[in-house]
Amino acid sequence: MNAMIKRKVIFTFPPEIVEKPISHTLMRDYDLWVNILRAKIEPSSGGKLVLELRGDEDMIEQGIESARQAGAGVTLLEHDVLWDKELCVDCGACISTCPTQALSLDRDNFKLIFDFEKCVACGTCAEVCPVKAITIEF
Ligand code: SF4
Ligand code: SF4
Repeated sequence: MNAMIKRKVIFTFPPEIVEKPISHTLMRDYDLWVNILRAKIEPSSGGKLVLELRGDEDMIEQGIESARQAGAGVTLLEHDVLWDKELCVDCGACISTCPTQALSLDRDNFKLIFDFEKCVACGTCAEVCPVKAITIEF
């Protein structure tokens, strides 16, 4: 049996394939669990989907390849959220916006702690940060 893995992927769609049911195909044909993290679809200009895929490693690879064959751009997210510690002023404004409790303040020194394992790259924190210390590759 192959390994079960989790992978975050950005799919970009040109207008001519924006109506194709990529997420549905990944679930139905490749038996993958698909979590839509972000979606921005405009029929006239194309779209982007950030998906978290879980399932058999080989099936994930095959599913991604099928999306490529269908004309989608594929970017595998390794470092999807970037936090610039130097820019961060530890104001804490981002903490309450995070749906997964990935952000917290260290009680000893009042510095921000970023738990990347919990982060699902939703981008909410990046929107509220006053100094743009957090950016999302999207
Ligand atoms: S991107 Fe979303 S999940 Fe990740 S730390 Fe920011 S608010 Fe939390
Ligand atoms: S909102 Fe920005 S500056 Fe404030 S703690 Fe979060 S990352 Fe740091």
